[in-house]
Amino acid sequence: MYITTPGLILRETEYKESSLILTVLTADRGKLTVQARGARRKGSKVAAATQLLTLSEMTLFENRERYTLTEARSVEEFRGLREDLGKLALGTYFAELMDSLADEDAPNPELLPLGLNALYALSESLNTDALVKAAFELRAMCTAGFEPALAACGVCGKERPTAAVLSLEGGGLYCAGCRPEGAGECVTLSPGVLDAMRHIISVSPKRLYAFSVGPETERRLARVCEAYLLTQLGRGFGTLDFYKSVK
Ligand SMILES: [Zn+2]
Repeated sequence: MYITTPGLILRETEYKESSLILTVLTADRGKLTVQARGARRKGSKVAAATQLLTLSEMTLFENRERYTLTEARSVEEFRGLREDLGKLALGTYFAELMDSLADEDAPNPELLPLGLNALYALSESLNTDALVKAAFELRAMCTAGFEPALAACGVCGKERPTAAVLSLEGGGLYCAGCRPEGAGECVTLSPGVLDAMRHIISVSPKRLYAFSVGPETERRLARVCEAYLLTQLGRGFGTLDFYKSVK
């Protein structure tokens, strides 16, 4: 059976002499593993459309849940990423993060547009790289079911907790004085960081990368979003380490 779908290339692995195994994020079918025969051959018609971090319109042949690429046309190549090593490294981390959050063969309708908007914001420098990263990390965690409970202190219910802290393991918000024993490792949230996190969680996806905060809040927000993600997922990312090494 043939299917046609837009897909974002999250990963490519060389396979045999001239082929690629692609990890592709689609809206309707989640993450797919796709064989692209001859994609590395000189003059291949699908070479541009099978590059990492490219959005392509693909025709796939499906046979017993195995997918083979038959045609592909690149729709968006995010050129700004190809001209800046730091942005390319950050985009590659976004791809590894989507790869880890997406389900195989199950629809993931929110993750693909979220990722595409993040790559576009990065490529076009619509915001600072640090803010795009923080907003993408936190919102991607929300779509994957790891949304922190930031509405009020989890113990006394105060909407603006006194000296707010966030539990990195439990995702709860508390006043420093209310923090329960089982909350585990907590980080302090300044009022500016808490407001920014609430904004990231609730704003419409289209406006996600269009906000600004002061430099100190940006620095703290970036640290909290990354720490929350790494703690919740319980793993590191080689692409994140690489991004930090070239930043
Ligand atoms: Zn409280």
